[in-house]
Amino acid sequence: MSLEIERFINKKDFNFVRSFAQKKETPFLLINLAKVSKNYDRLKKSISYAKIYYAVKANPNDEILKTLIKKGSCFDIATVFELDKVLSLGALSENISYGNTIKKERDIAYAYKKGVRLFATDSISDLEKISKKARKSKVFFRIMCDGDGADWPLSKKFGAHPDTIFNLALEAKSMGLIPYGISFHVGSQQRDIAQWDNAIAQCKYLFDSLRERGVELKMINIGGGFPSDYLKPTKSLNVYSKEITRFLKEDFGAKLPEIIVEPGRSMVGDCGIIVSEVIMISEKSATSNYKWMYLDVGKFGGLIETIDEAIKYPIFSEQKSRKLQEYIIAGPTCDSYDVLYEKNRYKLNSNIKEGDRLYIFTTGAYTASYSSVCFNGIPPLRTFCVKRFKS
Ligand SMILES: *Cc1c(COP(=O)(O)O)cnc(C)c1O
Repeated sequence: MSLEIERFINKKDFNFVRSFAQKKETPFLLINLAKVSKNYDRLKKSISYAKIYYAVKANPNDEILKTLIKKGSCFDIATVFELDKVLSLGALSENISYGNTIKKERDIAYAYKKGVRLFATDSISDLEKISKKARKSKVFFRIMCDGDGADWPLSKKFGAHPDTIFNLALEAKSMGLIPYGISFHVGSQQRDIAQWDNAIAQCKYLFDSLRERGVELKMINIGGGFPSDYLKPTKSLNVYSKEITRFLKEDFGAKLPEIIVEPGRSMVGDCGIIVSEVIMISEKSATSNYKWMYLDVGKFGGLIETIDEAIKYPIFSEQKSRKLQEYIIAGPTCDSYDVLYEKNRYKLNSNIKEGDRLYIFTTGAYTASYSSVCFNGIPPLRTFCVKRFKS
């Protein structure tokens, strides 16, 4: 696997990143806030009829959240901690959706007290808690997707079968709640756009069958799953938006219900670069044609999505040589699980030395918030935000 850095960054910006990195201890994540704004605008433009709820879990950094609040974004939160955070930064409770289907009753009560009136659900147990603690709120029901086609599937942990959802919506009405809409998540970094077609068709079925029972749904939440740019290219965001719009119009006609979209990865993934230092390069046998490269960041330091080598980050060194060498790439901790890429060997410059810096691209999402607090005494991954990549 070898690739050109120009696909990910232009020369001037990379020079900025390199000189920024020189003065800093690694590892750290560098965020380009201008890109966050740009990604927001790009999504807004490509799917103008949808309301954007940023999935806070992708990267809850204050500067990122403030940038999105300024843009007018709404927020999908999963816990009361995320709720407190976005509220403290100035988000309005009417722009917040409590999207986690797994909730404590007292957390529902807390969110309600703070003004949240929109809740996701997928079970009768959760619905009963909502009806007790968040009276007359809007609820939307999550249907299950299998995550096929996604690099990072969210599996069957969330959502329920449409027939179960049908009954939940009827129950919600009888409990005095407002059965408001249907949601789904096709799996993160979803490469198969047709997955939205299936899910939207199920929404249509539920809209129609519930209407016959006097429940008028108003909203579809098409979730996240939009791609970011890793090693293996995907279709562009515009292709996703265009296809999804077509699926929606096929099923619902020109007059669409309210549409919500919850981007995480596609909003911040390509806004971040992790800068790491090569701690050691070694050979474990005189005859092997690859080397081991140990970095100062690994699975526990923020690169947890390398589990099963699911997400393949673009990695570059500053070395100029054209000669490439195959490396197994591993993290710094004393846990044997802390190997990033072993099946997928990376081809990097052959003259990389210990102490050199590596640039791990498209690491703005699901890195800093996943990094462990103190495994092996290593502090959590630091984040620096800059307004833009310019000196
Ligand atoms: C994580 C999550 C998202 C964001 O998904 P991405 O694939 O990162 O865009 C959206 N909605 C919900 C409910 C989530 O849990």
